[in-house]
Amino acid sequence: APVVVAIDGPSGSGKSTVSRAVAARLGLSFLDTGAMYRAMTWWMLANDVDVNDPEAVAVACGKPVIVSGTDADGPTITVDGRDVAAPIRGPEVTAHVSAVAAVPAVRVRLVELQRGCARVAERGIVAEGRDMGSVVFPDATVKIFLTASEAARAERRAAELRAKGVDEATIVAMAADLARRDAADSSRATAPLTQAADAVLVDTSALSLEQVIDRITTLVAE
Ligand code: C5P
Repeated sequence: APVVVAIDGPSGSGKSTVSRAVAARLGLSFLDTGAMYRAMTWWMLANDVDVNDPEAVAVACGKPVIVSGTDADGPTITVDGRDVAAPIRGPEVTAHVSAVAAVPAVRVRLVELQRGCARVAERGIVAEGRDMGSVVFPDATVKIFLTASEAARAERRAAELRAKGVDEATIVAMAADLARRDAADSSRATAPLTQAADAVLVDTSALSLEQVIDRITTLVAE
């Protein structure tokens, strides 16, 4: 069976960078499932669906056509044919994505798309998100749960933002928003962020990016 590497963890654990690098190194496809929840949220906002009304979100969530390009060297995401890679990272989508992701009908739809991506990945796939090991790919070849101390995660995020020229007040506000999102993702009723029983815990607080990538590629090779 093709390789499936499931990588879960909270925001700021380094998940996206690590997952993409592991996929590139192993020659596997790469799937950022958070981008799919963000794309769904972007479409809801663009079409004036009340994202705080779970019924309205459930009714509408079958409409957008969301396509993920899974090349690790250049992942893409489109909604109804439009490239949304940039707008899905904006503050509006970020503020509302947890609410949209908590709606069961949204998850049913996106989980199906995620499994489809894995089925067509020729050599296998590295899939990252919150429920890859627990729900979407229960039979994954390797399951990783990436964590980092609250302080390390906050510091990494702040460094990224500072490098982009973001001011300190915005950095503080974004840290608060991140904490709120992690709490929401961990406490929701459907597919909350949890470490699967058979997932390997990797704490990245004191590790370099290279060390984390090495650790995971070694686990996949074993
Ligand atoms: O990974 P990222 O931070 O971009 O994910 C955005 C949001 O999408 C998360 O805060 C979470 O609410 C949701 N998500 C999810 N399940 C996944 C991936 C992301 O609920 N597998």
